[in-house]
Amino acid sequence: MSSAVVDVQGPLRKMPVEPGPPVHYRMKVGETLVPLNDLIGRDIQIDFDGEIRCIHCDRLTKKSFNQGFCYPCFRKLAACDSCIVSPEKCHYHEGTCREPEWGETHCMVPHIVYLANSSGLKVGITRKSQVPTRWIDQGAVAAIPMLEVTTRQLSGLVEVVCKEYVADRTNWRAMLKGDVPALDLVEERARMLEKIEASLDDLRDTHGQDAIRPVSDEALDLAYPVEVWPARIKTHNLDKTPSVGGRLEGIKGQYLILDSGVINIRKFTAYSVRLQVFDETPQTSDLFSN
Ligand SMILES: [Zn+2]
Repeated sequence: MSSAVVDVQGPLRKMPVEPGPPVHYRMKVGETLVPLNDLIGRDIQIDFDGEIRCIHCDRLTKKSFNQGFCYPCFRKLAACDSCIVSPEKCHYHEGTCREPEWGETHCMVPHIVYLANSSGLKVGITRKSQVPTRWIDQGAVAAIPMLEVTTRQLSGLVEVVCKEYVADRTNWRAMLKGDVPALDLVEERARMLEKIEASLDDLRDTHGQDAIRPVSDEALDLAYPVEVWPARIKTHNLDKTPSVGGRLEGIKGQYLILDSGVINIRKFTAYSVRLQVFDETPQTSDLFSN
């Protein structure tokens, strides 16, 4: 029989990434970090044992909210507030932040408004310290910073203006098919800045002349460790099918690409799983040996 070269158990976390090239992935299962790039081509098995513990308070929860939280934390934490999805609605300045101290370190800090090519051109925002992690998590093949702004709210307000001209979402199915045409992001950035110039002046009048600054950094190209792109996208869901197995053919964004379908690891943050990686595909002869 083929033996397991990796056999670990524990709660799943978002995969830590390094920009590479190619992007380097590790799978975090409990306290173990499993380097994944070297395991491409191997058979893997992920079994969910039914237990989900909140990543904030460790409470058992039947359902995961906002990728790993229990319901009470989802209702209470600033990280789970609706302004995280819609940063322009940040209400820190009104004194109503759910956790002002968290807001000071996560929202009242420099943010980057960027353009990325994930499944075509998109605009996005992120905390400055999250570049390029955010781009990798979205599976962008290239990204370029456009503006540095002083707060999360301001990044959201700029993004809203940009959304008139460009998408703010990734088509993850297209992202996982791999045939994303290249874009000249330096040119796209210049074009976008021209379109939003008047709106930026308005925002500067309200928030201060230095609150929005152009960034002239180069674009960053990102290459992902993928051997075979899926022709048809089938998704695995541990809530419906707790046992997922297949040959690991690549990794992009926070997705594992298996020959049996794709799985979004981030979606199952806090799920307690057993991860097994096998030595080699079982041979027919193994069936006759013991
Ligand atoms: Zn909790």
